[in-house]
Amino acid sequence: MSRCTRAILYKENLKYNIEQIRKYIKAETKICMAVKADGYGHNAVLTAKMASEVGGIDYFAVATVDEGIELRNEGIKANIILLSLSTPSEFEDLIKYNIIPLVFDKEYISLFAKAAADHFKNSGEKYPVFLAVDTGMGRIGCYSEQAGQEAKFIEDTNHLVLKGMITHFCVSDSTVEKNQEFTKKQYEDFKKAVENVKKMGIDPGICSCGASAALLNNQDMQFDMVRPGIITYGYYPDEITKEYLHSVHKEFDIKPVLSLETQVVAIRHFKKGQTISYGRTYTCPEDTDIAVLPIGYADGLLRRFSPGLEVTIKGKKYPVRGRICMDQCMVDLGKNNKDVKVFDKVVVFGPKESGALCTADDLAKIGNTISYEVLTSLSKRVKRIIQ
Ligand SMILES: *Cc1c(COP(=O)(O)O)cnc(C)c1O
Repeated sequence: MSRCTRAILYKENLKYNIEQIRKYIKAETKICMAVKADGYGHNAVLTAKMASEVGGIDYFAVATVDEGIELRNEGIKANIILLSLSTPSEFEDLIKYNIIPLVFDKEYISLFAKAAADHFKNSGEKYPVFLAVDTGMGRIGCYSEQAGQEAKFIEDTNHLVLKGMITHFCVSDSTVEKNQEFTKKQYEDFKKAVENVKKMGIDPGICSCGASAALLNNQDMQFDMVRPGIITYGYYPDEITKEYLHSVHKEFDIKPVLSLETQVVAIRHFKKGQTISYGRTYTCPEDTDIAVLPIGYADGLLRRFSPGLEVTIKGKKYPVRGRICMDQCMVDLGKNNKDVKVFDKVVVFGPKESGALCTADDLAKIGNTISYEVLTSLSKRVKRIIQ
């Protein structure tokens, strides 16, 4: 039996979310599901396997070559795209494990072409790459006016083939008008980049611009492939919430996939004036019962969640008191607790089905961050189990 502090993955909810996305986009639009950062903390292999069973996913996106290798070693056959740059030391593995890189820098392209030539032993076979275009994100990519030349440079290597083009929005998760205008400008700029490649007589391949936020808010900006990450895991990206979408007459619904659970391992009686945990930041204002939980910041329950965090036990919320320790934290059950018993199940966050009354969004609010960080903070020692 595994440790009681664990994460449960609700397969049905992942299926529901992917089906929702499918219904929301055009039938011919491909889906590239982001499973980087170990599947947003859910476990990339389990997530990719579940998603593959659901079907309708054309690409998985990873951030490191090792993440791609892990998926391949576990039998994932779908296309895998690498969203961040690697270094030449990883090119051999990239090719060996059939992972598609984003490229734009000429030196990088030349070195990668050489690695492809070495791999194919000059058999004439060509390796696919995506051209990254920077339309305003200020991260990776060439500028739109260079895209034609870049595409030609790729083709001229004779060992690479342009499989697609990609850009990334930086404020598509905002409902503020000037940000929405910026997203439109980025989109127009990307269209120009695609045109520039076509003008060179080169097929731009699969063109893709929108992650979760743009997918939801800009249904006209799908191009050939959308790249949802966070919504597949059941969370909205910043201001593009369910309420906002319904206000602009767009029907969309998702459910959190993961719940973080633990159990009460001790209940102790505290007297008025006693303090709890490091730094003595919490003093009991009256006699109370305190539950000890075997979960701490080394599991991903960040220190900055306390004060503020409430966990759910048997359908009722209880506040965490004092500082969260590395491996443990303490929860206030109130005076003369009769409801909670030792070894009762505790849910920190998750979907309704888990019994949780909080989601990763609630924790994000307390910790002044976003659901992405709450999820990716879950550490390796929290076992992920498919429900
Ligand atoms: C992470 C990432 C995505 C997915 O983003 P979400 O906001 O989680 O949907 C898509 N494209 C790129 C390039 C990314 O880095």
